[in-house]
Amino acid sequence: MNIDYLIIGQGISGSFLSQELESAGLSFIVIDEVRQHSASRVASGIINPVTGRRIVKTWMIDELMPFAWEAYNKIGSSLGIECISIIDNIDFFPTPQMRLAFLNSIQEDAQYLSLPANENDWHPTLNYDFGYGIIHPCFLVNLQSLLAAYRKSLLNKNILREEYFHTNDLIVNADNIRYHDIVATKIIFCDGIESQHNRWFKNLPFAPNKGEVLIVEIKDLPAKNILKKGISIVPWKENLFWVGSTHEWKFENDQITIGFRQKTEAQLTSFLKIPFTVMDHWASVRPATLERRPFAGFHPQYPSIGIFNGMGTKGCSLAPYFARQLADHLINKSKLSPEVSVERFRNVLARSGP
Ligand SMILES: Cc1cc2nc3c(=O)[nH]c(=O)nc-3n(C[C@H](O)[C@H](O)[C@H](O)COP(=O)(O)OP(=O)(O)OC[C@H]3O[C@@H](n4cnc5c(N)ncnc54)[C@H](O)[C@@H]3O)c2cc1C
Repeated sequence: MNIDYLIIGQGISGSFLSQELESAGLSFIVIDEVRQHSASRVASGIINPVTGRRIVKTWMIDELMPFAWEAYNKIGSSLGIECISIIDNIDFFPTPQMRLAFLNSIQEDAQYLSLPANENDWHPTLNYDFGYGIIHPCFLVNLQSLLAAYRKSLLNKNILREEYFHTNDLIVNADNIRYHDIVATKIIFCDGIESQHNRWFKNLPFAPNKGEVLIVEIKDLPAKNILKKGISIVPWKENLFWVGSTHEWKFENDQITIGFRQKTEAQLTSFLKIPFTVMDHWASVRPATLERRPFAGFHPQYPSIGIFNGMGTKGCSLAPYFARQLADHLINKSKLSPEVSVERFRNVLARSGP
């Protein structure tokens, strides 16, 4: 079978990249092994315009947010689902210092930040001592619906193979690649943390980051806002909320831990005045990078082998935008942003390969 592209992975990266290629009329096959707890399937789906303890604007957010809104609405309408909504992130200050940091940030740039008219209005439901601020607008992406619906559409077109991709079976020729019965002009790895073991890209500065979450039933909590005080409580579905997460740079494995569950249950008990029940507990590893920037482009010595990865903590906003950029690069030979192009690692990549 001859195709233009072979894509490995149907997380948020592989989904958007393949969708861009499809829109351009290019042929492709996606290979994705079913993994219930891949990063994209465990993520809460928040696109937050500010970040960090100093509450500064997220990198490129003024371009990423409008792009994401359009991209999720476009893919959603093609699949017959709604997969993005606007939501407020209510940031309950855990300390007086954090309140001060928020007030300082408003003075510097109030584009996404505001204070409530009455900061006591959450007291019937929540315990908090130092007031709160509002981050608006945030977006909430329903990744579970999106990935499932997109997967189904690929399966219906017979262009998704639900199997493990074995790198050792890949044959790389001068102007194409062969994998079993598939001959493609290029292969693009969108395989999340797996790329750190991939013989062509293992020298890229990946910095995997583990996160654990609880799925919690909170019957009396309106599913209207993201509520944050140390942990985030994010509307998930019906009475269920996504509660998390950790950001661990050092970890032994990708499994759930009793420590996280106990600590998070204690945080919820002290934050909520209403009952809750833990329904599930997940863990996954984010494909983060040392410089906190994605990896996109082609291996300098093996131009038929590409990567679209390194989305870190912000796959929901970065993947749609840079998937379009990578597709434009392939179709129109336009340049990739230097911050994401793997060209910046030409020297380290030259030391990798078969
Ligand atoms: C707890 C947690 C919370 C998060 N919350 C957010 C959030 O709110 N907002 C946000 O923007 N980001 C969030 N993230 C980060 C986000 O999940 C990632 O940036 C994003 O999912 C990465 O997507 P990806 O497609 O690159 O990789 P992945 O989601 O890991 O997808 C890779 C895919 O490749 C497949 N695969 C890998 N190897 C093979 C193989 N050999 N053969 C076949 N298939 C293979 C896997 O099965 C998987 O489907 C969160 C992450 C975690 C862990």
